[in-house]
Amino acid sequence: SALYRIDDWGAPYFSVNNSGNITVRPYGTVTLAHQEIDLLKIVKKVSDPKSVGGLGLQLPLIVRLPDVLKNRLESLQSAFELAIQSQGYESHYQGVYPVKCNQDRFVVEDIVKFGAPFRFGLEAGSKPELLLAMSCLCKGNPDALLVCNGFKDAEFISLALLARKLALNTVIVVEQEEEVNLIIDISKHLSVRPVIGFRAKLRTKHSGHFGSTSGEKGKFGLTTTQILRIVKKLQDSGMLDCLQMLHFHIGSQIPSTALLQDGVGEAAQIYSELVRLGANMKVIDIGGGLGIDYDGSKSGNSDLSVSYGLQEYASAVVNAIRFVCDRKSIKHPIICSESGRAIVSHHSVLIFEAMSATAPTTPSMNQNNLPFIMDGLSEDARAVYWNLSDAAMRHENETCLLYADQLKQRCVEQFKEGTLGIEQLAAVDGLCDLVSKVIGASEPVRTYHVNLSIFTSIPDFWSIGQIFPIVPIHRLDERPEVRGVLSDLTCDSDGKIDKFIGGEASLPLHELGGNGGVNGRYYLGMFLGGAYQEALGGHHNLFGGPSVVRVSQSDGPHSFAVTRAVPGPSCGDVLRVMQHEPELMFETLKHRAEEFCVQDHGSDGANDALATSLARSFHNMPYLVVTSSCSLTA
Ligand code: PLP
Repeated sequence: SALYRIDDWGAPYFSVNNSGNITVRPYGTVTLAHQEIDLLKIVKKVSDPKSVGGLGLQLPLIVRLPDVLKNRLESLQSAFELAIQSQGYESHYQGVYPVKCNQDRFVVEDIVKFGAPFRFGLEAGSKPELLLAMSCLCKGNPDALLVCNGFKDAEFISLALLARKLALNTVIVVEQEEEVNLIIDISKHLSVRPVIGFRAKLRTKHSGHFGSTSGEKGKFGLTTTQILRIVKKLQDSGMLDCLQMLHFHIGSQIPSTALLQDGVGEAAQIYSELVRLGANMKVIDIGGGLGIDYDGSKSGNSDLSVSYGLQEYASAVVNAIRFVCDRKSIKHPIICSESGRAIVSHHSVLIFEAMSATAPTTPSMNQNNLPFIMDGLSEDARAVYWNLSDAAMRHENETCLLYADQLKQRCVEQFKEGTLGIEQLAAVDGLCDLVSKVIGASEPVRTYHVNLSIFTSIPDFWSIGQIFPIVPIHRLDERPEVRGVLSDLTCDSDGKIDKFIGGEASLPLHELGGNGGVNGRYYLGMFLGGAYQEALGGHHNLFGGPSVVRVSQSDGPHSFAVTRAVPGPSCGDVLRVMQHEPELMFETLKHRAEEFCVQDHGSDGANDALATSLARSFHNMPYLVVTSSCSLTA
């Protein structure tokens, strides 16, 4: 486990048990061994054809852990409660979950349910997100906030006002100056008194990748000039009392509490100025940005890591707001945050299978091949060969490698010119492999082919180079013998993972088919990917999302219960996304088969079998069905 730094990034939820498998401690602590959930047992159970109502789910698989979600939510709440209590802060914390991080119905419903005791709400940034937030919050705490961010048109604003009519505690956050005219007009028209927030464009700038939305030139929010203009407009319309919230967001993955305090302090000054200008201020919403320490280094010096934990974050926020409010003698506001990444990252694990790996180099050089090789070589290549041979006699390893490389290059040139046959080229390759093997050159990094689409399941790796911990979920009691990179199923050279935590360009991996496997299978897990990955994933090569299971801790003999199991989208489903009509396609292909195959096979039975096989292709997932335990490709 030290090799993969599991204790650094995985604590307190993930660890390795005595069998060498990764286990989950859903509540962060365990008192009894059976409270640990073994990920491999989940994979075995849900992929067994006799299990999950006879479904036998296909991988890749997302294992969702609602108990972890609950623990994250409660930990965030306790961190703020402790900071509030210990600093004598005179109001409370009331967070919202930004649904864009993971809009899955069960994730959002769980958050509303688990957060109801402490008024936890939702944030929406588009009309469909608002619709889902409205409907989920009907079952939530009536005081929970529903924060409406993002660009808005008249329909969005009408919907948000309707939400207020439905007694949902909705706040419309003005991001663009023009939105305020719509809010004034529509609310009068609908006779609803809105609650309005302002999103301020702060001067504090977060310099990481995720900070591009911050600073004076950031994409969102109101400048100080605009804020003053809109305050006047609200005042003129008799609606300044509707302005009750100040919101800002300086970007995701805020690296340090120093930057956080700087931003929160600046926002608290704006908040206090709005109080002075006569607004009915009640809430300061500090946005998202509470980061995840993906590599467990606590260094805070890249988008991969932050240098604080939940408690330090909450204490810094409370401190910065209290300091400003006390100096200005204003009432402490309710503190709201929009933490997404920090709430959902840990709760899901993506599990996928390595199907094959490039074979280790096994030099196939035969001494009898020498005259055969020499025969085809040009003068020039032959000279390089003799240099190689001399260097070998003198045991000059580095020089040997240099000449072997040159020899290969010359031979490839000859092959391209058509003066060297394929057998001779293969023999030269064999000779060069033998040279590296004999002089002990390090084993090259192998490529493990994984039954996954990176574009669908780990889109941030491909798009912004975000690195997630990836670890085999079993065999961790065996020392991995090789190093490898991961290559996915898509026909795209970007579909590979060759950067790992710790700045590594390859991952320690086990040989496929080893004893510790499950029928020789080799499963890997991608951790901390519960935020954004599902929401952003695409359909490159028409690979859809993974199967999903929801697993809760239970007191039964298995320590877990699968409370929901959903196969990933079928080939038909993903075709439909691109406007194809699988039913029509099936009919077209069936008629074609009747037209062309009847003469071949004659019988109705053969046609039925063909139709069944076609139907199955539409019905099955696009991922490979791995039948043999594993294979090696040269
Ligand atoms: N709130 C707003 C306005 C955002 O733009 C974002 C995401 O960038 C968030 C909240 C969530 O941020 P995080 O996932 O860093 O908590």
